Amino acid sequence: MIAVVSGLAPTDVTRMLAAHGVRPSRALGQNFLSDANTARRIARLAGVGPGDRVVEIGPGLGALTVALVASGAEITTVELDRHLLAVLAETVEPLGVRVVHGDALRVRWADLLGGRGPEVVVGNLPYNVAVPIILRVLDEAPSVARLLVMMQREVADRLVASPGTKSYGSVTVHVRYWAEATMVGRVPPSVFVPRPKVESALVSVVRRAAPAVDPATVALTRLMAVVRAGFAQRRKMLRSALAGVVDEQAYQATGVSSAARAETLDVAEWGKLAAWTMRTSP
Ligand code: SAM
Repeated sequence: MIAVVSGLAPTDVTRMLAAHGVRPSRALGQNFLSDANTARRIARLAGVGPGDRVVEIGPGLGALTVALVASGAEITTVELDRHLLAVLAETVEPLGVRVVHGDALRVRWADLLGGRGPEVVVGNLPYNVAVPIILRVLDEAPSVARLLVMMQREVADRLVASPGTKSYGSVTVHVRYWAEATMVGRVPPSVFVPRPKVESALVSVVRRAAPAVDPATVALTRLMAVVRAGFAQRRKMLRSALAGVVDEQAYQATGVSSAARAETLDVAEWGKLAAWTMRTSP
């Protein structure tokens, strides 16, 4: 057994994988953290401590988990890869961590978390499902008050983008409906085994007290249908990108210019347009 209490070095990661006959899976986005300083930095940025309830998504071999344990918080992890369960039984379960074998895209958050809230989600997320995992937590786990998550830099750019920029899109609007997202750090490929090709970034997502658009005026599903329709033709003016979705009157009534492009509208403006569609087809 390798002691991970002080963190995992690249050689430890390689040895642990070999000892358990595990080969990093690309499909599961397995780039394991092999730098204790980075693990401690993430735990510090998560700002958790005794009394906090943390859910770590994708603990892998437990590199970040041990840093979170050191904070004194109560930790539950959700790991999809059953081959890693034996590793986690050695590395983090003896430290009091609850390890759940499950899929973060399917798990029933209310059952898992037991309605005790509030919780903090932390994770070095699998790169190909980072966005759906974050959106699902925001949509379906209201007791999660904030997230501190690592992902590919390019994906992080989309979460935190400002209107009028290339990275701003429907995902940005969806996140902003629920939360404020900020990029709080960058992480080089050199701290992972195997090394990813691109830089990673850390994003802090803090849930708002109430959604940015009042759900009494328009539901999230309708809002996002309008937003996605707009961004599907992001180079076109709204009057043609949203033809058949938003009528001409809506622009006058809401004060949103029909000559604007999707990428210039903030979440409140999307909310106004989407709420207008409720009048014409509730
Ligand atoms: N936290 C570890 C670290 O930092 O070294 C591993 C991070 S690795 C980038 C992503 C982890 O998420 C892997 O352990 C992978 O098996 C797991 N994973 C992938 N898809 C998942 C899903 N849908 N639900 C839960 N875990 C998942």
